[in-house]
Amino acid sequence: MSRFTVAIDGPAAAGKGTISKAVAAHFGFAHLDTGLLYRAVGAKVLAGSDPVQAAKALTPEDLEGELRTPEVAQAASRVAVLPDVRAALFEFQRSFAARDGGAVLDGRDIGTVICPDADVKLFVTASPEIRAERRYLELSNKGIEVTQKDVLADVIARDKRDSERAEAPLKPAEDAVIIDTSELSIADAVANAVAAIAACR
Ligand code: C5P
Repeated sequence: MSRFTVAIDGPAAAGKGTISKAVAAHFGFAHLDTGLLYRAVGAKVLAGSDPVQAAKALTPEDLEGELRTPEVAQAASRVAVLPDVRAALFEFQRSFAARDGGAVLDGRDIGTVICPDADVKLFVTASPEIRAERRYLELSNKGIEVTQKDVLADVIARDKRDSERAEAPLKPAEDAVIIDTSELSIADAVANAVAAIAACR
């Protein structure tokens, strides 16, 4: 089996996770949700750890547990501005991308910083209102109490922090295929991603 790397970036709740899982299953590639790494570091910081030490000492067990809460998301985006935190997580992501048999990584800087030579780069986006609505439904279904207004504010604050930071800001790679999921069903968004990847294989 050979190496084949798919980089999927985009703002919060645009559908990256759903698309990444589906294309990984379709092509038989391994999948890494890199946001979970930052969320795990954020959760450790909320529990009192130093962010850089937490990033350096991260273990697979740290990626389990409830990391998909709005508090952890905000904490993740705060630690994600720190260059030493990003540096500590770099090698793990690089080696994951280089594994035999193909890999899909989703995040904010995969196509620009972690895997600038990825075989396929997708940038998945949608309007802030649509993203907030989807995230609201996802959190409510999990029994997490939030209001739609707070979720929109959270999405906008994270987009701003992620896009304006000096280190590895959220932006599409120059050669990324943009998939705007605002008006797409999940099936159509996945079909677009599969077609973009198949065209490069
Ligand atoms: O993708 P997710 O919403 O789980 O990411 C949580 C936070 O982690 C993002 O808001 C962003 O600040 C940070 N992140 C990042 N680089 C990545 C993945 C996530 O800075 N590759």
